[in-house]
Amino acid sequence: MTTRADILRQLGRDAEVWDVLVIGGGATGLGAAVEAASRGYRTLLVERSDFAKGTSSRSTKLVHGGVRYLEQLNLTLVTDALRERGHMLRNAPHLVHDQQFVVPAYSYASLPYYGFGLKVYELLSGKLSFGRSEILSAKSTLEKLPGLKGDGLCGGILYHDGQFDDARYAVSLLRTFQDLGGTAINYVEAVGFLQRNGKTIGIKARDREEDASFDLQAKVVINACGVFAEDTVSMDRGEHASMLAVSQGTHFVLPHSLLPGTTALMIPKTADGRVLFAIPWHGSTIVGTTDVPVERASNEPRALAAEKEFLFDHIARYFGRRPRADEILSVWSGLRPLVKKAGVKTSQLSRDHTILVSPTGLITITGGKWTTYRRMGQDTIDRACQVASLPKAPSRTLELKIHGWTTESGAASSEWEHVYGSDLPELQALSSENVALDALLHPRLPFRAREVVWSARNEMARTVEDVLARRTRALFLDARAAMEAAPAVASLLTAELNRTEAWKARDLAGFLQLANGYLSDSLE
Ligand SMILES: Cc1cc2nc3c(=O)[nH]c(=O)nc-3n(C[C@H](O)[C@H](O)[C@H](O)COP(=O)(O)OP(=O)(O)OC[C@H]3O[C@@H](n4cnc5c(N)ncnc54)[C@H](O)[C@@H]3O)c2cc1C
Repeated sequence: MTTRADILRQLGRDAEVWDVLVIGGGATGLGAAVEAASRGYRTLLVERSDFAKGTSSRSTKLVHGGVRYLEQLNLTLVTDALRERGHMLRNAPHLVHDQQFVVPAYSYASLPYYGFGLKVYELLSGKLSFGRSEILSAKSTLEKLPGLKGDGLCGGILYHDGQFDDARYAVSLLRTFQDLGGTAINYVEAVGFLQRNGKTIGIKARDREEDASFDLQAKVVINACGVFAEDTVSMDRGEHASMLAVSQGTHFVLPHSLLPGTTALMIPKTADGRVLFAIPWHGSTIVGTTDVPVERASNEPRALAAEKEFLFDHIARYFGRRPRADEILSVWSGLRPLVKKAGVKTSQLSRDHTILVSPTGLITITGGKWTTYRRMGQDTIDRACQVASLPKAPSRTLELKIHGWTTESGAASSEWEHVYGSDLPELQALSSENVALDALLHPRLPFRAREVVWSARNEMARTVEDVLARRTRALFLDARAAMEAAPAVASLLTAELNRTEAWKARDLAGFLQLANGYLSDSLE
């Protein structure tokens, strides 16, 4: 097994120039890295925090074309995303599944309007359709969405889209990249660029665990830093015109009893003209999202009391009651990196991606959606090949199976265990070898001690937060339970990573402080 120390030793020793160096380990960076490695380029990815620490673990968990963009008549974005949706299901059936949605109609005029739109949505997906849309009676709508307000309900429209576990998909992309021979390391930050004759030829890197600095050379460097992409451009070429608008989206996690059953609710028009969802996910209900412009990007964006009011007002309108404070299991916010356009509100800005090549040759990829990560990676590496004159190699990611690919769910005893795909028997074997690892981390959570050990050994988890936020999804599902499980996780990690008691105390305290921000009483 290659350890983090082995990778660092290799990076320190290795004078050979990388073909492609990717900065940023979210959906965009991992997608570009997989694309590069699958074409045979020697590829390195550095992430300054943990993989998917940023926006890529904080999405609405939809693999979708975007019904909203259809209404904006952005047919290219919708069609491209629907195609990617179909390939994500084929290439990662352990991580992506079909999800039924119902749009309730409280006027007879809205039934044909949304019915027609969602039929077009279905038809645009062609052979990769997830299922037929249909118009439902009021009675069937209430059967699909028990708890929905029945007064004035005229019917509903059922349609299909994809759902996934975003952080688990990121971890599986990381493993796919490694399977392809790529090198990735978390907690290593790009702090500057190496330049020769006005061209970028690598980065100055800092290992944040050991506080050590080193240089890494590459034929081409890709900036996939999400909402931080502009900071990276500034390090490369100093002053430049501002290009990104950052907008915050918040989700609340509520008990499954709010929306019992398996169908999700889609509210087609909020007070600010967007769509809003209540979706079953890993045994709970996610409600979101908002669109609030923010001045400065941060690693841990905090939900605002106003966002809660906005979301709960809409829930009350459709369910006839506001969720109680004690029903809020977790609250999290993510930041969208949107490409600016003068005079256009963030909610109206395009979700298309943009690739920019600096005069130094640095390639910046930004915007886009989780669903389009593969296409973004393909376009980026096509561009990188031109910039660095890499030997031509065709893309093969459209059909590339993601690590863990399997269509069998035989060994999985819970919905959660599906995410491990073909790795599941190996993971389960850990608790056959040591029965203590079979223990649940918390009575309200589906995660076991063996997942902690597995994530440290196989998925580059380094901290309690890595395990509870992104290898398992405890923090996102039930923040209080995650905090209660944290001491046990800290002990398991300390043993597994050969850490000191001082490290354990520090890491645990850091996690508990961060997790406070996911409790509803932390709203600003
Ligand atoms: C609220 C919300 C809901 C969404 N819902 C959906 C959805 O349902 N479906 C969908 O398809 N899309 C959705 N999206 C969009 C999608 O989540 C994003 O487009 C995607 O996650 C962006 O990924 P990224 O890799 O560009 O950014 P990030 O995930 O933020 O990754 C950037 C990474 O770069 C790292 N980094 C920054 N600077 C440095 C440096 N100097 N050195 C090393 N590393 C660095 C950061 O630590 C970070 O991990 C949603 C977005 C939001 C905000």
